[in-house]
Amino acid sequence: MSELCDQTAAELLRRLEAGEVTCVDVMDATLGRIEAREAEVGAFLSRGEPDAMRAAAASVDARRRGGEPVGALGGLPVGVKDNLCVEGTATTCGSRLLGPFVPPYTATAVQRVLDADGIVIGKTNLDEFAMGSSTENSALGQTRNPRDASRVAGGSSGGSAAAVAAGMVPLALGSDTGGSIRQPASFCGVVGLKPTYGRVSRYGLVAYASSLDQVGPITRSVDDAALLLNVIAGHDPRDSTSLDCHVPDYLSEDEAGDVETLRIGVPGEYDRPGGDPAVGEALRRTLDALADAGHIVEEVSLPHSEYAVATYYLLASAEASSNLARYDGTLYGRRAEDPASLDDMIERTRGEGFGDEVKRRIMLGTYALSTGYAAGYYEKALRVRRLIQNDFVAAFEKFDVLMHPVAPHPAFRLGEKTDDPLSMYLEDVYSVPANLAGLPAISVPAAVPGGALPVGVQVVAPALAEVRLLAAARRVEAVAAAASVGG
Ligand code: GLN
Repeated sequence: MSELCDQTAAELLRRLEAGEVTCVDVMDATLGRIEAREAEVGAFLSRGEPDAMRAAAASVDARRRGGEPVGALGGLPVGVKDNLCVEGTATTCGSRLLGPFVPPYTATAVQRVLDADGIVIGKTNLDEFAMGSSTENSALGQTRNPRDASRVAGGSSGGSAAAVAAGMVPLALGSDTGGSIRQPASFCGVVGLKPTYGRVSRYGLVAYASSLDQVGPITRSVDDAALLLNVIAGHDPRDSTSLDCHVPDYLSEDEAGDVETLRIGVPGEYDRPGGDPAVGEALRRTLDALADAGHIVEEVSLPHSEYAVATYYLLASAEASSNLARYDGTLYGRRAEDPASLDDMIERTRGEGFGDEVKRRIMLGTYALSTGYAAGYYEKALRVRRLIQNDFVAAFEKFDVLMHPVAPHPAFRLGEKTDDPLSMYLEDVYSVPANLAGLPAISVPAAVPGGALPVGVQVVAPALAEVRLLAAARRVEAVAAAASVGG
């Protein structure tokens, strides 16, 4: 039954409906795969008890057999990034600081997964408070790339991407503030979708940078990303930035009729030196195949993109410094022992609890927000953010979607960038613009030569145009499938 672990959710749901397999079969295969691979991969920070997971699967089987309604996720196992709250289950954010924090409520995105009969089988590893691009900043464990254990799985949703790539779950939730769904998906050879800002509720997602954070799916196919987006998208009165507007059916609606010929813009500024040639090659092969299929592929300019990384790191750090001020030892998780005074308690709780990268961001952000510097850093970054947004508005006047790399390199080696924060930040150069502009973006595995590391192609669409984004992504997926069939 271990072949069940490598199938898409869509295929598993078809087989469940046809009565060829049961949820318990899928759960047993899943638990077996985790047993076989978790020691090497390290995708999870915590997992449900196997008996409880089997019982949950058996109850969905019973409902299906009895002809009762079963939700869209049909009893399939789902991994959840450990910065999303699940009532009664420790939420760590990969940090020592949260220590024994057990949330008394469940994040809306997770609740919707549960309501759709997804079975949450565990919480996945991440860079501490989602700050990082390799999951190496987790204080609680090392995640390795299932395709090559000497390499990182990407980050910060590295555990979710690795779990999907290793066949431990068909579906996972991640969060993306500056690339944290798309980049690990690219590194692990799976699909990762960051929805439009506001499309999915952030309620119960531990805040990193609130104007950028978004929850989204990590899956084995574009259709599975659509399936999971169907479940989690939609208005939530408990998140004031959640959009109150129509949610299409992302699985059945396809803009193919509308945009039979896609106008694809390829940002000229993204053709930078210093990247790995394999990334450019993978993109070029995909674009050539799309052009051969009749789509229009042309260069587009995003003139302010060279400022995107600096803008992102100022804004994200500023927001983080404010959001993380709440971890002072009074309310959440850990508290320093035997404090001599209130100040001592706060100082030591934070000093002992946060890792180096989180401290770096807090210092950077506090500096950028401080009197005398805010105008020159934080406010200036806000203005540049607007220019970056305007670049996209102009680009989408001429193009349906943009396509470009997810990151300049495929998965790098463990430890390769840990001593050089700036080189780690520069890995985000192609992913942060979509966050700054609030746009939906997806990473889809491109065709790569046999044995080569996975490389994702990124598709970006206008705000709330996820239907179009997914339509374009399906074409990228088809090109990759055709190339691998053709050898
Ligand atoms: N690598 C980026 C950062 O460290 C993005 C992280 C994310 O999207 N959560 O901020």
